[in-house]
Amino acid sequence: MAFVYDLDLAEWEAWVQEQGEPRYRARQIWEGLYRHLWAEPEAFTTLPKALRSRLAETFSFSRLTPTGERFSQDGETHKTLFTLPDGAVIETVRMRYVRRRTLCISSQSGCAMGCVFCATGRLGLFRNLTAGEIVEQVIYYARLLRQQGERVTNIVVMGMGEPLHNYDAVMKALRILNHPQGFRLGARRITISTVGLPHRIRQLAREGKQFRLAVSLHAATDDLRRQLIPLARRYTLAELMDACREYVARTGRRITFEWTMIDGVNDSEDQARALVALVRGLPAHVNLIPLNPVPGYAGRPSPRSRIARFAAVLEEAGIPCTVRVRRGIDIQAGCGQLAGERLAADGKLRFQVHGPGLPPTAAPSGTAG
Ligand code: SAH
Ligand code: SF4
Repeated sequence: MAFVYDLDLAEWEAWVQEQGEPRYRARQIWEGLYRHLWAEPEAFTTLPKALRSRLAETFSFSRLTPTGERFSQDGETHKTLFTLPDGAVIETVRMRYVRRRTLCISSQSGCAMGCVFCATGRLGLFRNLTAGEIVEQVIYYARLLRQQGERVTNIVVMGMGEPLHNYDAVMKALRILNHPQGFRLGARRITISTVGLPHRIRQLAREGKQFRLAVSLHAATDDLRRQLIPLARRYTLAELMDACREYVARTGRRITFEWTMIDGVNDSEDQARALVALVRGLPAHVNLIPLNPVPGYAGRPSPRSRIARFAAVLEEAGIPCTVRVRRGIDIQAGCGQLAGERLAADGKLRFQVHGPGLPPTAAPSGTAG
């Protein structure tokens, strides 16, 4: 069955015309979905009854079933585990800041990139999400927030998965959410975080959209980066930085470089100096993220003193840098901790925790744990 959030406005226009209806009906559906956040076909009272019935027969209005949810102790972070009809699981996190209500959304169930310090990477990739499955994560939380008179102010595509490895669906979802007649979330309020697929960064540069780009670097020398990120065996830092330069040249946007701080691994002053050399001349911002604990990875977060020294090297070179405030660690909602509650404490996979679970034949490929 088709899924309402998978269609963009042009596809709705085509659909209503196939039903023998005028094109403006598509706009009515669009506004129902994205302005009023209507959740079922009966709510679309702006439509003639026959069209409403066709809508109900043709489309499913939800694919995400919440099958688990956790609140951090401070109440500021809320994580929902969703199960999809085929048993795939994803997680979405809502963070409350003073003014912002930021959603961290997933682009894939699992991830194929296998970064050694990331819980999602240990799962392997189960499958790509469709555009609609990405969009529905936002709509779900938008409805919850609306009950409190609030709205989603920012989105970071930093949940499960590598967004540029599911490029078309992610772009379609972000265009839908950004659409001026629909959900209307400003492109500058949307951040895409990537492990660094150079050809996709170049493609993103040509989209003509003002989305923010964050590149997960973690190491400034190829040797070290390859130990942490298997993908770095395929693309060198030189190739990655070339793509970043093209991105900046085309968009005029600054890039955020993310750096997970792992004690004694990538937090030396040498690495900081190599990073300075790498980003020289680029409008850049560096985000230092103390490693969050992940089952099956022995690394430890860098102590504060080492982080301060690393940051000082960057600051002396005039590179702005911030240490990310860790959020939701107590509920495994921090960066790199999203594993659909499917990693046991020893880093081994465990299934059937929530919902129907994955059938054994559909176990994710490339499992590292
Ligand atoms: N695949 C994308 C987006 C999801 S990961 C990417 O890699 O950028 C989001 C961020 O969390 C990335 O910067 C990632 O490197 C970081 N991260 C992964 N595991 C982490 C961990 N255990 N502790 C802290 N940050 C982690
Ligand atoms: Fe995938 Fe990002 Fe985790 Fe690497 S850090 S395994 S790219 S989700």
